[in-house]
Amino acid sequence: MTFNELNLIAPLLKALETEGYTQPTPIQEQAIPIVLRQQDLLGCAQTGTGKTAAFALPILQLLDAAHAERAPKHIKVLILTPTRELAIQIGESFAAYGRNLRLKHTVIFGGVPQGSQVQALNRGVDILIATPGRLLDLMNQGYIRLSDISIFVLDEADRMLDMGFIHDVKRVVSKLPQKRQTLFFSATMPTEIQKLANTILTHPQMVAVTPPATTAEMVTQSVYFTNKKDKRQMLLHVLKEKTIKNALVFTRTKHGADKVVKDLQKEGIKAEAIHGNKSQNARQRALGNFKDGAIRVLVATDIAARGIDVDLLSHVINYEIPEVPETYVHRIGRTGRAGASGTAMSFCDQEEMQDWRNILKITSQKIPVVDNHPYPMEQTGKVQINLPKNKEVVHRPNAVAGASSRHNGSQRRRW
Ligand code: AMP
Repeated sequence: MTFNELNLIAPLLKALETEGYTQPTPIQEQAIPIVLRQQDLLGCAQTGTGKTAAFALPILQLLDAAHAERAPKHIKVLILTPTRELAIQIGESFAAYGRNLRLKHTVIFGGVPQGSQVQALNRGVDILIATPGRLLDLMNQGYIRLSDISIFVLDEADRMLDMGFIHDVKRVVSKLPQKRQTLFFSATMPTEIQKLANTILTHPQMVAVTPPATTAEMVTQSVYFTNKKDKRQMLLHVLKEKTIKNALVFTRTKHGADKVVKDLQKEGIKAEAIHGNKSQNARQRALGNFKDGAIRVLVATDIAARGIDVDLLSHVINYEIPEVPETYVHRIGRTGRAGASGTAMSFCDQEEMQDWRNILKITSQKIPVVDNHPYPMEQTGKVQINLPKNKEVVHRPNAVAGASSRHNGSQRRRW
């Protein structure tokens, strides 16, 4: 299928050409016709599937058809998303796809002064992209009216729940006009999310795309069994490999992230951390530096990394193994995006062995073990180490970055 067959208007097709998109992703194929028919949508899809364009393209088309630019002072579309990073990325998508249209959008989020956001609102916007807290704040101050909203998008509903925003979301929904089109996206559908969907959607069409576990197929994975005390050296050892152009390193804690950054900086490796204790400006700056190549390593906690989209991220390194196995899939999905190749390396110590086994269970993959490295796991005598059954030992003289188990050749699209 082509974008042309989805009946998109010429200015959008032209923008997609500029972006270099040749083919719609499955979620785009399914969702775009539904949104263009002005029906409600329940989309089961996570970031990385192309879901932003799946709602942004038809929204831009509907607004353009409604000659929205003739009433510039009224917000007609509200997109609610849980994190600042996601909000900014959605804003960038609207800018890219809407480059040949005259529609205005703006992004509002907390953690930064509100002045410039208020100014943008006062100039008038058609599309507002917001995180719940700042939206409610500016609504309470009288800067935002939602009475002209004709399309409401709730993005990453399950994450809203995880992050404790669900009441804020309900408060926002209560201020929206009853008569509207609603698009609801969530990667998972726990009961509370289903209930919320039932209350805010009217006769929705359902679309679902491949579960996240398939993401892993695009990524070359390997594991290094090592010791907690050696992980610092292990990371330095691995980073000697020049093929690691840039790496997103995951730690479990904010403190851990800062520590890794210090260790790397001491060795002259350019690195910055991104986590909840950093100001919004510091996070944006770090992400910008990473995207521009000014720093080679970005160290992140899971919450901070949500929605980070770095094109051409070559490596993800799990400095610590996540406790929740699905988090592993989310982490490694940061690389190997949009058909590019990616590599994920995991450092697993004794205490993390059970977590690693759980990951192997949910990914049902053989993840090669790199056993040819200077910091092998020590047998303490206290803990009996049974390496996971699907162990595949890789013997390589320079097995730093190279342990590879690519499943399907190189440049294959994920969708
Ligand atoms: P999303 O799931 O919206 O975060 O999108 C994931 C990534 O895929 C983003 O970097 C998009 O720019 C990219 N993308 C979205 N749709 C397409 C497409 N049809 N072809 C190629 N890349 C795409």
